[in-house]
Amino acid sequence: MIDLCSQESSPLLAIDAALERIKAAIQPIAESEKVVLKNALGRVLSESIYSPINSPHDRNAAMDGYAFSSQDINHEQPFTLSLAGTSWAGRPFTGLLQPGQCIRVFTGAVLPIQADSVVMQEQVQTNGQTVLFPANTPSRQHIREIGEDIKQGSLLCAHPKKLNAIDLGLLASAGIYELTVKRPVKIAFFSTGDELTALGQPLESGKIYDSNRYTLSGLLNDAGYSVTDMGVIADDKQLLQDTFTEAAKNHDVIITTGGASVGEADYVKEILDRCGEVNFWKIAIKPGKPLAFGKIGSCYFFGLPGNPVAVIVTFQYIVAPALKQLSSAPNSKPLQLTATCTSALKKTPGRQEFQRGILTQDPNGEFFVASSGKQGSNILSSMSRANCYIVLPTECKGIQAGDKVRVDLMLDAKII
Ligand code: AMP
Ligand code: MG
Repeated sequence: MIDLCSQESSPLLAIDAALERIKAAIQPIAESEKVVLKNALGRVLSESIYSPINSPHDRNAAMDGYAFSSQDINHEQPFTLSLAGTSWAGRPFTGLLQPGQCIRVFTGAVLPIQADSVVMQEQVQTNGQTVLFPANTPSRQHIREIGEDIKQGSLLCAHPKKLNAIDLGLLASAGIYELTVKRPVKIAFFSTGDELTALGQPLESGKIYDSNRYTLSGLLNDAGYSVTDMGVIADDKQLLQDTFTEAAKNHDVIITTGGASVGEADYVKEILDRCGEVNFWKIAIKPGKPLAFGKIGSCYFFGLPGNPVAVIVTFQYIVAPALKQLSSAPNSKPLQLTATCTSALKKTPGRQEFQRGILTQDPNGEFFVASSGKQGSNILSSMSRANCYIVLPTECKGIQAGDKVRVDLMLDAKII
């Protein structure tokens, strides 16, 4: 692939080829651990979970009302039944339901076996212990059958599902208290660069605040990851090498930002080469070209570019799928749509571009996307305004307003 806007000595790797290389290189973590259900949100199941019980466990009422047997009743006529008792949710009626009787029931109350119908309380009239049911009272309604939600022995959640809030509710409804999940992926991350200033310090000329580490710590906020923030490392070869080697001993993944390009102070690729192995360096995307992937011992290494927008793009498209593979989580992709672009977009052929856009949907359901502003890889404000990437293919030479484009929703983004 030739990038016409730069003089590369060797061809850049296409994003799909880079992802294939990562896929082939990464061995999912084998170890598991037990957690109680309330700590299982966002964790990846190590084994499929089957229900030990039927849910509902008992036949019960779906409404507040009156339960009766439809046998021996002529539904076309009004009829009266005498009240034999009450069944509450959690406090069942223990007697027998005799012909000519009904019982008061509340939602979730267990029904006596003779009862096959529940009628809503709003539809009847009561007079002391007598209940008057109107003509055409429907029968065999508002009853929840045993196991109608979950059958005993049926699959609740298949491994390797990453558990969400709904899964927790489903598992709790079946009484699952403890489960086996993959152990978290241990990730160390740090920023590199002599210009980086910590928050809380005044900004001297030539310096910048270290924003990447805050972005990364947010992007890595996932119950499946155990994250170590290693701070800022100066552009010092020995220091970088020592930090890489040390972090690799007790982490599964190292993620760095900065120093991955070809500048005089860009040492990341060189040091990765020296203390580990480089699988690939530089991919044909914009922003995000100078990305180094490799390994130090058994620890995977992602040297991301320094520019803040490139960090976010490479994280979503390259690092996130790799982390999912490592944690055995399904590789869910961002939602992809086709939208009409309302802005003209500049593009030079040679690299696949991820431009920042604002996606909207009109009342007819049609999608429109506009550029969210300046597209430099240092421009975080247009990234913050955006809810999607406008993904322009490698050979694209630019977009005219009105053209159809591919749009990928950003992580957690909502359409406005
Ligand atoms: P580099 O790849 O180290 O040459 O960095 C490319 C650009 O990204 C430079 O303008 C850096 O100052 C900037 N940069 C590097 N690291 C960070 C960081 N942690 N936060 C914000 N900007 C950064
Ligand atoms: Mg740098």
